[in-house]
Amino acid sequence: MKRLRGRTAITLLLTAALAAGLVLFCVRLVAHGGEWVGFFGTTYYDAGALYDANGVLLYDGETGSYAEDQATRMATLHLVGDRNFGTSLRSVLSSRLSGYNPITGTTLGSHDVMLTIDSALNRTALEALGGSRGVVAVYNYVTGDVKCLVSSPTYDPNDPPADVNENPAYEGVYLNRFFSGTYPPGSTFKLVTTAAAIEKKGDLDNFRFTCTGSTQIGDGVVTCPYAHGADMTIDQCLACSCNGAYAVLALELGANELDKYMKEAGLQDSLTVDGLHTARGSFDKAEAGSVWLGWSGVGQYNDLVNPCTLLTFMGGIANRGVAVTPELVGREAISGTQIPAALSGGPDTFNIYSSSTCDRLKAMMRNNVVSSYGQEQFGDLPVCAKSGTAEVGGGQQPHAWFAGFVDDPNHPLAFVVLVENGGWGSQTAGGVAAKVLAQAAAG
Ligand SMILES: [Zn+2]
Repeated sequence: MKRLRGRTAITLLLTAALAAGLVLFCVRLVAHGGEWVGFFGTTYYDAGALYDANGVLLYDGETGSYAEDQATRMATLHLVGDRNFGTSLRSVLSSRLSGYNPITGTTLGSHDVMLTIDSALNRTALEALGGSRGVVAVYNYVTGDVKCLVSSPTYDPNDPPADVNENPAYEGVYLNRFFSGTYPPGSTFKLVTTAAAIEKKGDLDNFRFTCTGSTQIGDGVVTCPYAHGADMTIDQCLACSCNGAYAVLALELGANELDKYMKEAGLQDSLTVDGLHTARGSFDKAEAGSVWLGWSGVGQYNDLVNPCTLLTFMGGIANRGVAVTPELVGREAISGTQIPAALSGGPDTFNIYSSSTCDRLKAMMRNNVVSSYGQEQFGDLPVCAKSGTAEVGGGQQPHAWFAGFVDDPNHPLAFVVLVENGGWGSQTAGGVAAKVLAQAAAG
């Protein structure tokens, strides 16, 4: 009897284990089935195809072939991905390309995915980078549609370079810098400090600053490239990007406020763009009264931002406080047909600063272009922007940033350009932005 009871207990235990295993399997099947179908050894089972917004074929899963034109292949490599890329649209969209569904499996056939990208714009952006490493991205800040997204260095997936792993020119080539990179923001961060000053400093209109080229902060000195001038208003300080003025503001506001306003901008969050996750930015709170706190308000010290979240922040200012998460997928259809295979929802949004704070930032960013960077390079487009020249140390040239948006309902475009070791932000990165925006607005 005792033995029988023991056997019953063992049987019951085994039954319970089997039931638990089945439940676990079913949960995992529903959650990960799409990935299992999409992943086969080292290749993705992605029978569908990827097209750009104008119907240009970027990748055909049936034949495993990429775009016909080499420049297009190179300018879309990071989006499409090849077998060396851990994250790319081929990997995150594999279940959609294979047409996988937890009930029917893949029996209903594969899907074609039409991206929002204009591959011709990507080619222009890559060419404008002129072989430099960096990022160029443009998106519609109302709909979230990404029009242009280039990460450099790149290569032709039909002919990968033999020295890709040894040649320093290809460092980090398998990363899409737009999603995975974090960089010192340089003076683009002054927009965060400005937002905090607008909301926390009641007498900002009376703020005046005289720049002699170097400003004593705590036991250190914050320097500017030259003496910016006397009795400058906050608008003038942003337009000439005066480090001294912003270090003084940072000390007055304090590290907690700067951290809070960077968080409110979304710059410390990770965004999910059609299954691709962005790297998080970060802010280290330096000691009150220290020169490092001053530099942190200038976008140096240990500040880091990700290009995608910075782009989304620009869109949020343009949109008067409502930031729209970028999107890469336009439509999805049953392969070889125009029959829609999925419903596309509305854009994901989150709130940044108040509409009045954003309007003030917008006016200041417009003034930056008109009074400092030069409107002529942007033709008739009312561009609002902030440049950044981020020191990276080690005797290397600084990173050049140019980020902003077109304040025009007919061309609701936000942009970010980063040229690694590109030198002066408004010149190097501003020139790239001007070329890409001209083509984006004309298209
Ligand atoms: Zn200055």
